[in-house]
Amino acid sequence: MQHDIWFNGKLVPHAEANISVLSHVIHYGSSVFEGIRCYNTKKSGPAVFRLPEHMRRLEESAKIYRMASEYSQEQMEAAVIETIEASGMQSCYIRPVIYRGVGGLGVNPLKNKVDAFIAVLNWGKYLGEEAMESGVDVHVASWSRMAPNTFPSLAKAGGNYLNASLVKMDAVLNGYMEGIMLNREGYVAEGSGENLFVIRDGKILTAPAAFSILPGITRDSIFRIAADLGYEIEQTAIPREALYIADELFFTGTAAEVTPIRSVDKYVVGSGTRGPITTAIQAAFFDIVEGGNDPYGWLTPVNVSVPA
Ligand code: PMP
Repeated sequence: MQHDIWFNGKLVPHAEANISVLSHVIHYGSSVFEGIRCYNTKKSGPAVFRLPEHMRRLEESAKIYRMASEYSQEQMEAAVIETIEASGMQSCYIRPVIYRGVGGLGVNPLKNKVDAFIAVLNWGKYLGEEAMESGVDVHVASWSRMAPNTFPSLAKAGGNYLNASLVKMDAVLNGYMEGIMLNREGYVAEGSGENLFVIRDGKILTAPAAFSILPGITRDSIFRIAADLGYEIEQTAIPREALYIADELFFTGTAAEVTPIRSVDKYVVGSGTRGPITTAIQAAFFDIVEGGNDPYGWLTPVNVSVPA
């Protein structure tokens, strides 16, 4: 079933949410977007995970690209809630997009209209149900993450995902679930749609924001969860071979949640199964998003009426 789309301020049927083929975004990839999850929590029913943080990043991505959206962060947050409630879905994946519309086909986008929409859809485990326990097999991608002075990595922009989809296609066509990108200097950056954490001798490492990563909201959540579990996280340069000798590795992301990695380039990670630190962090994460226990105030409740 296709749910109504919030399109420039109002809910419209999916079939009416159309854009012109002459929209700037079609030709030049000029969109910014978010991926957010609404969980049907055990304790308190449907709730959106870290909605203000996602909508803040959306606003900031738009700002970096000089896109003046008609809607404030607060209006977009309210629109997300409205779209979910109208859909009747207890849990869903939410995709808000701000993009350059019509107004000329030159590269200069400053005169093009800035439009916005929000779609909600069903989305299960991104890297597979079984992967949550057994882990995924990945490789190091031959495509690098963008250099810092090419594309701004802190903006979650549509165009960035041309690079990401090359990485993902190469991984899948070579029999892997995902590819890990290195940055321009050859240090570990992230997956095509996930941040990466490396565990060795009880210490957790991840790439700093300045290493051309998208600083994920799940990544930020893991900083807090891990610290409260008593683990130290260091943001540092990680050489490729550190992946091969790690005790544990895991991906984080809205879609991927917390997914263990069991091999990289056919090197077995640690014991080849989900390790103890990954297990503890994953359990704490799911206790919040699925359990509905919310010590950090990360859940925004949604009123979805259950059909009689
Ligand atoms: N890196 C990239 C390239 C991504 O696309 C995503 C998904 N948004 C992430 C990291 C993880 O970010 P988040 O935890 O905010 O979903």
